[in-house]
Amino acid sequence: MLGDTIAAISTPRGRGGVAVIRVSGAMAVSVVDAIFTAKNGRSLAEQEARRVIRGEVFSTDEKNEKTVLDDVLVTVFRAPASFTGEDTVEIACHGGILLTETILTALLCNGARAAEAGEFTRRAFLNGKIGLSSAEALGNILEAQTAEQIKLAHTGMSGKIEQKSAQIYGSLRDILASIYAKIDYPDEDLADMSREEMLAALTKCKNMTDALVRSYKTGHAIAEGITTVICGKPNVGKSSLYNCLLGREAAIVTDIEGTTRDVLTETVSLGRVMLRLFDTAGMRETDNPVERIGISRTRDALASAELVFALFDGSRPIDEEDRELIELLDAHGGTVVAVLNKCDLQKSASMEEIASRFAHTVTVSAETGEGIEELIALVDRLFTDEQINLGEDAVLTNARQHAAAMNASMAVGRAMEALSVGLPIELACTDAEDAMEAIAELDGRAVSEDIVAQIFSHFCVGK
Ligand code: GDP
Repeated sequence: MLGDTIAAISTPRGRGGVAVIRVSGAMAVSVVDAIFTAKNGRSLAEQEARRVIRGEVFSTDEKNEKTVLDDVLVTVFRAPASFTGEDTVEIACHGGILLTETILTALLCNGARAAEAGEFTRRAFLNGKIGLSSAEALGNILEAQTAEQIKLAHTGMSGKIEQKSAQIYGSLRDILASIYAKIDYPDEDLADMSREEMLAALTKCKNMTDALVRSYKTGHAIAEGITTVICGKPNVGKSSLYNCLLGREAAIVTDIEGTTRDVLTETVSLGRVMLRLFDTAGMRETDNPVERIGISRTRDALASAELVFALFDGSRPIDEEDRELIELLDAHGGTVVAVLNKCDLQKSASMEEIASRFAHTVTVSAETGEGIEELIALVDRLFTDEQINLGEDAVLTNARQHAAAMNASMAVGRAMEALSVGLPIELACTDAEDAMEAIAELDGRAVSEDIVAQIFSHFCVGK
């Protein structure tokens, strides 16, 4: 509900120098006023907005006796000049767990409601302060693990996707106005644009939309990560390569429990991109039932991998097990890179044969690190677009945005087709309307309640 006043501790739960408690809504100022005494003797309602005010917060018991809780700094933001677009008050207090919770309780006793996850940002979106893509970028910056992710999220937060969307949306609106004029007054020349001009404008829209669609390749690789599996028979050096990748560019390594299959994933930043590296230990024939489950999970992971490092021992002749792997990967839908390991040892004559079976081959030594830079550069080349300027361009970072942009692109394409082959203009009209709807979904100006709820549920309380 938008009408009520919400409060939450916006800093992480724990001990710290300072914690911030945020209150937002029509009653924000009076709720905080009820527990706050300013040193300058004025009520919060009388204080200047965006000024830091020093004072004390207190709680009140049943007998109306006050207990001072902390010495705090309070800032008032008046609607609409606040993050949420509502009256907002921020209390900076000392960062004790019990202290912050006691202050929050005092606020809740005086008319505020505990905020739900992401509710401040959700309000900012609903009040038109930020677009949906910016809100998503804000979520990403909180989760960022690499410098590239921060750069991408920061660009997203500045509203780049919304700006591009608005440009495309405005253009489609102009085209539609001309189409409507032609439909309503077919015999008069009231439309601003001729068919040719409409086609030219639609081509521009298509180019802009397609650039957005293409940007997702890079955005996905950086923000979401590339699902990657290292596979190969035992002893080719899978663990060594794994460690080598972790050790080299691995800025951050985290353990993420897979939710459905319990497959352990390591997140590794590699050059500009991020790999979600699946642990494939145990990919071999075995009678051990536990190991078998592991292998079947590995096969699942392999099937859904976007990137596969097929590892071979480059110092030994290729054998039956290697050939089986090559066969298995022949039908793989993702990007497969043959990695010929142990290049510090003598080279086997089979290397050429292996290389001939794969689109990409890199020779490395997981032991000495030789060739790893080439591997990183190859992955970067394959999964990102170097034309994209991360700090400048609109880059899509999730499947929702990508699907909306794809729908827009296809609808614009259909409208162009209808116009260029001389079909009745009504057909182009429906397609252009569909394209506008998809763009509205992309930037969130028209998006379903469910999707909004789902996006903000991933945020933490207090954001
Ligand atoms: P996995 O069974 O595929 O995970 O293979 P490991 O990573 O456990 O490596 C098997 C053996 O090969 C170990 O003795 C490693 O030290 C060795 N090894 C791995 N990579 C290299 C390499 O690049 N050069 C050399 N000389 N030995 C390697």
